[in-house]
Amino acid sequence: MNAMNPGNPLHDHRRLGRELDLFDTDPLMGAGLPYWLPDGAVVRHVLEEYVRETERAAGYRHVYSPVLGKRELYEISGHWDHYSDDMFPPMRLGGGEGDGEEVVLRPSLCPHHALIYRSRSHSYRELPLRFAELGGMYRSELSGVLGGLTRVRSIQLNDAHIFCTPEQAVAEARAALALIRRAYDDLGIRAARYRLSLPGDSGKYVADPALWRRATALLEEVLDGSGDGIEYESVDGEAAFYGPKIDVQITDPAGRESTLSTVQIDFHQPERFDLHYIGPDGRKHRPVMVHRSIIGSVERAVAHLIEAHGGAFPVWLAPVQLVVLPVAEEQEERARDLVRRAEARGIRAELSGPGHGTLGARVRAARLVPYQAVIGEREADADSAAVRLRDGRRPGAVPVGELLERIGARAGDRGAELWAAA
Ligand SMILES: [Zn+2]
Repeated sequence: MNAMNPGNPLHDHRRLGRELDLFDTDPLMGAGLPYWLPDGAVVRHVLEEYVRETERAAGYRHVYSPVLGKRELYEISGHWDHYSDDMFPPMRLGGGEGDGEEVVLRPSLCPHHALIYRSRSHSYRELPLRFAELGGMYRSELSGVLGGLTRVRSIQLNDAHIFCTPEQAVAEARAALALIRRAYDDLGIRAARYRLSLPGDSGKYVADPALWRRATALLEEVLDGSGDGIEYESVDGEAAFYGPKIDVQITDPAGRESTLSTVQIDFHQPERFDLHYIGPDGRKHRPVMVHRSIIGSVERAVAHLIEAHGGAFPVWLAPVQLVVLPVAEEQEERARDLVRRAEARGIRAELSGPGHGTLGARVRAARLVPYQAVIGEREADADSAAVRLRDGRRPGAVPVGELLERIGARAGDRGAELWAAA
């Protein structure tokens, strides 16, 4: 079930995304700007809700911030100097010669969250303060590299910034890493490896050797002290421009590696935005920013989920959980009734009637749906359904009441088995 099959080109998310009607692109919307079809939107919605729930339970508070900001904001954050190649050109507002302001599609959420932090004064008693947002950001990728959900120009990022004292930074980063690992378990995905991404000596990084050493030492402490011990490799040239980061790497069916989740400890942006908190001594102190993303971007996360599961999503994530198949037109009303009752119980159910082809063809078309309920004459008379499971098992005729009971109990349960003996 849900076997990870990294070598299978049939699991390419672009191919499955189209076949399963999850997402697509249109040249008129533009390359690298995919849209989500209803079934893809369901997966995304359930995933986003999972992330929000997980964050709420871990003490994060959610904020919203705009996807635009003034050019000046990114000059302060350092993006303008170190990241402008990946940014869309600024838009001039106001029309007038020289007096209009310039706004930019944001390349990251960090500067906005730093400003939200700065908008109120904070005592050390409030820290750590964890701001989370599933927010849009934009990357001006070249057309040649765009494709599917993995290389896009419009990104929905699962982001958070933890503002804390320097003493709290390691514990916060470690807790963020633990959250990532738990999410991977819940989602049925696997980290290929952990990477400590360091600057190396290219000129794209902010210069402050003491700051880099300090942040790197803390991240090493995070990795080395994480209980069961995390094996990792240090790699030069992969850091963020403002600091080192822990990257959780995944691989696609072709074996290509990419970063899904990250944890960063940042001394640079608190400096640039002149952030502070009032310490027990009544004086101003500089907080540390821990940047972290549990599932990275929603686009990349869904692409990876499609590939890791070959389109057979775990029940709680599946866009359609139950498909009801009347054998002939005479059973269609019964089938419709079962769909209605399932939906009333919170099960995502769909009808696939004789208008959609022979029973065999309809069963094949629904092969990735966890539960199939076939209703023929005999089942209709007995108010039951012949149940087939995605993994090939056939529990046989099950009374409709019992079927709804069983599936209903599993529809939202992340740990549930597909089916259990009665
Ligand atoms: Zn950030």
